[in-house]
Amino acid sequence: MTNESKVYYCNHCKAFIDELEDLLFVEESSSKGFCSENCIEKFYQHLVDFFEERDKSLRDDLSLADEDCLKFVGKPKLMELVLSSPNEVWKNTNDLNEEYFHFIRKVTEKGSEPFSMIATCLIFDNKPSFILAVTASRSEEMVGHYKREQLVDKPLTLEAEADEEGFQSVEVDEELIESIELKKSNFLASLLEERSPSDIPFERFNMYDEFIEKTLQEPDEVFINTDEEGDKVLTYIKAHELNGTSFYYFCLCMKYENSQKEGMETLLPILTFPSLDGELYEFYKKGTKLTGALKN
Ligand SMILES: [Zn+2]
Repeated sequence: MTNESKVYYCNHCKAFIDELEDLLFVEESSSKGFCSENCIEKFYQHLVDFFEERDKSLRDDLSLADEDCLKFVGKPKLMELVLSSPNEVWKNTNDLNEEYFHFIRKVTEKGSEPFSMIATCLIFDNKPSFILAVTASRSEEMVGHYKREQLVDKPLTLEAEADEEGFQSVEVDEELIESIELKKSNFLASLLEERSPSDIPFERFNMYDEFIEKTLQEPDEVFINTDEEGDKVLTYIKAHELNGTSFYYFCLCMKYENSQKEGMETLLPILTFPSLDGELYEFYKKGTKLTGALKN
């Protein structure tokens, strides 16, 4: 169904897009939309180069070109930490209201003194959507250069809120929340290990949130596994298409029996993500396949 009076197009390749929902956005305060991951990468390449160059010249000025903590830049676990739970977030805005943010977090690595990880990113839906640059430093002066403009009051987080994802909100106790957090970080660690570097970057997962519901409502396949804690984990998988590119969407959920209402089972989301990778699909299609009418 094409609405001929409304015209949308990709800001990079200029391809016309029929439906607004097929455009991908990475900036909160802008109407720039893109047809694909590829066009997003290309569109922002000049900013990636710019921030890399700026970090380099700062380091030259401060004689910090060879800081040993730079070898940890890009390490998945540290990237996840700085993006999902930064100590500080600094916002930079120009007179056109274009924004970028510095996420800063103190981290430690085995056998190394603590240092600050700094990720410069764009934000969409209150979460990092595109990483422009990443650097690391132990120098207060260096880190100080990234603490510029405006400190954001409440650091943003990647935490997905249950009702935001279209699930019914249920009363869950503290113990259960802790157990879900633990599962989430275990699942995420395993995903980061298995995924290909060329797959959809995880800071862009939230751009695909609209596929959560479709995947849960009409999955292609559902697998059930029992994890180490003895909980039942369901893996919902569905293939989707966005502007001619096919991808999988995965929803890892836990079955939770409501103690107040006997026999009532609720599905709690633990980790949801898109992927372009057939090998990752093979990795997740394991366990007992459920057939017949699938209800959630
Ligand atoms: Zn495009």
